[in-house]
Amino acid sequence: MIASAANSSSEFNNSKLIPLFSAEQIQNRIQEMGAEITRDYAGREPLLVGVLKGACVFISDLMRAIDLPLAVDFMAISSYGSQMRTSGEVRIIKDLDTPVEGRDILVVEDIVDTGLTLSYLLASLHARGARSVKLAALLDKWERRERPVQIDYLGFKIPDAFVVGYGLDYAERYRNLPYIAVLKED
Ligand code: 5GP
Ligand code: MG
Ligand code: MG
Repeated sequence: MIASAANSSSEFNNSKLIPLFSAEQIQNRIQEMGAEITRDYAGREPLLVGVLKGACVFISDLMRAIDLPLAVDFMAISSYGSQMRTSGEVRIIKDLDTPVEGRDILVVEDIVDTGLTLSYLLASLHARGARSVKLAALLDKWERRERPVQIDYLGFKIPDAFVVGYGLDYAERYRNLPYIAVLKED
């Protein structure tokens, strides 16, 4: 039902979704990540920073798997480039509402690909005087890395393929799929 809804427009009739991680696999992994974050941040009150729009679904589930007082804020970043890859030029479209000075920041990202977006973002949060800056990413497309990025909490490593679902889009579509799939044009 969801796959057909995602493919209903003629514009997308030639693409195929190949399931990679089921909703259940994702939920199980996020519970483990949340437990680990809960242990690591015990006694502190982290500020979770979700990177819009891709991380919106992941951060919603991850925050509920963390048993600590915490705050949530969002940033939106635009990286110039095509739909399927980033150029490395990064611009902040929506900044945080919360001051980061002295805070323990946990950046929450959907996927780390080249690492260009994240290396820019993490450096900028450090420069603003955060007490600590760590990264939780659901997916790591590690083969394509151009800048080193330390992922402190990782969901899954994935091969070099374009994935959609669970917040990840292609031309704004597929974010609502409850699972993650490889999008293949044929
Ligand atoms: P990076 O700067 O690491 O190359 O790219 C980061 C951003 O590119 C991700 O946050 C995501 O928005 C987008 N991106 C990279 N790979 C994929 C992918 O396989 N699928 C989708 N939907 N977006 C991706
Ligand atoms: Mg993203
Ligand atoms: Mg996108």
